[in-house]
Amino acid sequence: MRGDVVACERCPRLRRWCREVAATRVKRFQDQEYWGRPVPGFGDPRARLLVVGLAPAAHGGNRTGRVFTGDRSGDFLFAALHRAGFASQSESVARDDGLKLRDCYVAAAARCAPPANKPLPAELARCREYLSREWALLTRVRAVLVLGRIGMDGCLAMLRETGRPLPRGLAFAHGAAHDLGGGVRLFCSYHVSQQNTFTGRLTPARFDAVLAQAKEHIGSGH
Ligand code: SF4
Repeated sequence: MRGDVVACERCPRLRRWCREVAATRVKRFQDQEYWGRPVPGFGDPRARLLVVGLAPAAHGGNRTGRVFTGDRSGDFLFAALHRAGFASQSESVARDDGLKLRDCYVAAAARCAPPANKPLPAELARCREYLSREWALLTRVRAVLVLGRIGMDGCLAMLRETGRPLPRGLAFAHGAAHDLGGGVRLFCSYHVSQQNTFTGRLTPARFDAVLAQAKEHIGSGH
């Protein structure tokens, strides 16, 4: 599956953009070779916690080749996962930095970095196949933590496409939680982007609180 994601060329606009960013780079990373390809999910195949973000960042995942790696969003996310015991270290800077996830898997609604961090609906729909395939492989998942509304919409659409009956009108709000049936619960958080973390909309404490709810559910045995 990893190979399929990395070789995917289904969204010409995104593939062009990722290649362009990888060729031009930014000044601070001029000496680095960018990944420039779709970025697969990452983590523990026996995970009970699935985290779903939006898409790789142009100079983060698109540079390093690992989701939420090498940017401020990743710094925020993995520091929190480390505090909660899901990550072996708080730093996520490169594919070979030694980071290991325990009981947690991190994926995204779109696997290619989009211009202005905005994938188009058709691109998100095309990329859902990969989330769906991961879902089928991650058979132990009991808590899904979505980062932002687009992550939530992508997850719910994917689950509906698998035939899972879900209530309509599930609302997104930071801290909201919804029952998805079969002992699986959905937890919502604002996205860990700088737009939220630099403005104080999402603080480490507010994110930790959602993560703690998800962790409690995983351990509850219900
Ligand atoms: S966004 Fe997804 S479907 Fe589109 S090219 Fe990238 S990996 Fe393929």
